[in-house]
Amino acid sequence: RVKARGGNTFEIFDRAMEGRLRDRLRTEDGLRRAILKDELRLVYQPIVQLDPQRTVALEALVRWQHPEEGLLAPGRFLPVAEQDAQLISDIGRWVLRRACIESRLFPEGIRISVNVAARELGEEGFPERIADTLASTGTSPERIGLEITETTLMEGGDAAIGGLEQLSQHGMYISLDDFGTGYSSLTRLARLPLNAIKLDRGFVARYTGERDRRIIEAAVSIGRAADLNVVAEGVETEDQLELLRASGCGFVQGYLLGRPSPPEQVLQQLASAPT
Ligand code: C2E
Ligand code: MG
Ligand code: MG
Ligand code: MG
Repeated sequence: RVKARGGNTFEIFDRAMEGRLRDRLRTEDGLRRAILKDELRLVYQPIVQLDPQRTVALEALVRWQHPEEGLLAPGRFLPVAEQDAQLISDIGRWVLRRACIESRLFPEGIRISVNVAARELGEEGFPERIADTLASTGTSPERIGLEITETTLMEGGDAAIGGLEQLSQHGMYISLDDFGTGYSSLTRLARLPLNAIKLDRGFVARYTGERDRRIIEAAVSIGRAADLNVVAEGVETEDQLELLRASGCGFVQGYLLGRPSPPEQVLQQLASAPT
């Protein structure tokens, strides 16, 4: 180790690290208890087919109802959880199980789409664990979709792809999440057992002119060329929706169509706008 350059620099640096470590450990601890104390929640956001317009799926997004800090978004705690294989796996199990149980609240034609963390997919026995959860909750595999990011796949290696193939063969719907943000290899895209790609919110958000429009069109074309459904994330305005429709994008998701909400609220929305 390098020596402190002078004065108390090294000590201060150590203290800052110590502080961060303490924060992380506190979050980890809190999360472990959160699972036991049932403080995690799922909110659901509609994924809407455009022609004809109807909700085909709901993406399940995890929240932590923190006793002091209120409702926390995954960005606040998942990065910490992901440092600990056991913890992220426990959260993943909780999420899938809860999604399976809550899926019964929604109309049968609506799929529930669950996000999978990198470490889970690479985990030994992952496909079997999913199959077990489906069986023990009486959920049909067609009812549940999995959202995997490119990074997830890269980190999971061949084992991850093998696992995905198994799940796909069981009838689960597989989406490649955040498409366009990773190192998309087109040859790999065609080889993966995918049903859909989800264009990252950045594609839609950055749209300002003709060039962006052509890039969105190209991304949609890539998906369609590979016989995949194309979902655009982060749709917030009517203009964006029209642009996506004109680009041949078949499915949209975003605040314009519905915010992530608790099951009761989603049910109300589905009832008031059945399309
Ligand atoms: P994601 O899977 O790409 O999910 C989409 C994110 O975009 C969600 O953020 C959603 O609330 C947000 N979003 C949706 N529509 C709009 C919009 O119109 N505008 C804007 N600005 N944002 C929109 P959220 O819920 O904070 O989740 C963030 C990420 O955390 C997710 O990104 C996903 O990668 C991860 N995540 C969420 N739930 C889970 C989970 O249960 N397990 C795992 N492993 N990861 C999860
Ligand atoms: Mg997702
Ligand atoms: Mg995404
Ligand atoms: Mg994302």
